[in-house]
Amino acid sequence: MAPRPLVICGPSGVGKGTLLKKLLEDHMNAFGFSVSHTTRQPRPGEEHGKDYFFVNREEMDEAIENGEFIEHAVYSGNCYGTSKEAVEAVLESGRICILDIDTQGVKQVKNTDLNPFYVFIKPPTIEDLEKRLQGRGTETEESMARRLKAAQEEIEYGETPDNFCIVIVNDEVDRAYEELKQFILPEIKKIEDCESD
Ligand code: ADP
Ligand code: 5GP
Repeated sequence: MAPRPLVICGPSGVGKGTLLKKLLEDHMNAFGFSVSHTTRQPRPGEEHGKDYFFVNREEMDEAIENGEFIEHAVYSGNCYGTSKEAVEAVLESGRICILDIDTQGVKQVKNTDLNPFYVFIKPPTIEDLEKRLQGRGTETEESMARRLKAAQEEIEYGETPDNFCIVIVNDEVDRAYEELKQFILPEIKKIEDCESD
């Protein structure tokens, strides 16, 4: 049986990418990342096919029309979507499929038979979130305002009982990472134990 996927959700700038990078580096063979499609522009250092499939609006609309996505959403003025192909590629490899998606996506995934673990990453405060977004230096003022506005609603959904299996406060990277790792460790072990047999 394919391992259950892992959904990581949390407001933009909370540190999802930072935590996932560590998890993927430490347990390369246990995880595979579901590469989403997006219409937003690549940030410096982001690679097509690795971080995202960067597409234009027409390509995105066509793929949606063709039923290629498990879920899709408009976030901060851009389209994002998880393709069936991206998830299947990881599932077929026998690894835990990681989906980094927003709360609109989470709501749609809950109506599928994917049966993932749902993890919400929360900032200590909105001020911390703002500082992190600012510090990352990737957003215009307008994009930052849109992301902070979305964050309020996302945190509300994240904190609602039963929406997520676990809510992790990303106060210190190492501490939050440890909590995330402990949560998913039983699943990692199943894969790593199989490999060493
Ligand atoms: P996301 O993927 O959720 O949008 P990132 O991983 O890109 O967020 O992190 C946003 C910024 O916050 C980055 O500059 C990152 O280095 C920083 N960051 C991440 N976690 C922490 C933390 N616990 N404390 C302080 N800064 C953090
Ligand atoms: P960013 O532009 O910062 O990479 O991502 C913005 C938001 O979009 C984040 O909350 C991220 O989790 C979410 N996101 C990334 N890919 C997808 C996707 O395929 N579907 C959905 N619904 N959200 C996504």
